[in-house]
Amino acid sequence: MYLGDEAWPDLESYFESESLALVPLGSTEQHGPHLPEATDHLIGEAFARAVADRTGYLCTPTINIGVSGHHRQFHGTMWVEPPAFRQYMESLTRNLTSHGIDRVIYVNAHGGNVPHLREVGARLRQDEVAYAIEWMWNDSIPELVDDLFEQNGPHGGPKETALIQYLEPALVHDDRLEEARDTGIPDVEAAETIKHGSRTFYDAADNTDNGVLGDQTDATAAKGVQLFEAASDQLVQLCEWLAAQKFEDLMPREHV
Ligand SMILES: [Zn+2]
Repeated sequence: MYLGDEAWPDLESYFESESLALVPLGSTEQHGPHLPEATDHLIGEAFARAVADRTGYLCTPTINIGVSGHHRQFHGTMWVEPPAFRQYMESLTRNLTSHGIDRVIYVNAHGGNVPHLREVGARLRQDEVAYAIEWMWNDSIPELVDDLFEQNGPHGGPKETALIQYLEPALVHDDRLEEARDTGIPDVEAAETIKHGSRTFYDAADNTDNGVLGDQTDATAAKGVQLFEAASDQLVQLCEWLAAQKFEDLMPREHV
């Protein structure tokens, strides 16, 4: 069920019988010469909407802009500062609890959002308001991602390329995949910006001239389908696990 499509009286029975919501998130940021800036939020939204359709759980509208300041040198990247993002996410999650939601899955497809979503989730749990956890599709199927691609990327690499080739093929510049590979870098190590154990870079531009990593020519829509189906299965199972928990069991333990 997609919240944005429903009239309010038709949501009453959902909130009476269920207390789980899926909140899709991503970014609007450069993804190299071959992928759209929408890449991450298209991916987060596709997983959340597909799994909401399969399970009947509620999916909220998508948070399209996140913590992407590290891509600021490339045309079009949009971002908000981390404290603003955390405050916004905490506020909207608290607002869901006023309708009876007490457990939330942030269906997130942008790595830059992760530490902030975890901080928000920890705070909401500490306050015993809600139990909110972050899920990223690629972390749910690490072996399949490794099997399918020699050089994952991660950012703007073949795994994201394959998913967009499947989900929104008209937005992929297939004629630029070789350029994406040849003017970017295979992985972070290749940029030699990890020095004596320290990550000396802050921005994507410190590592890669075209904004991306990995071998994009390894991506196909068929691999995208495989990734999408395998990770969707994981998210369905996570929803079922979370819905089956008692709220008290999700809250912090007592002091020893
Ligand atoms: Zn991305």
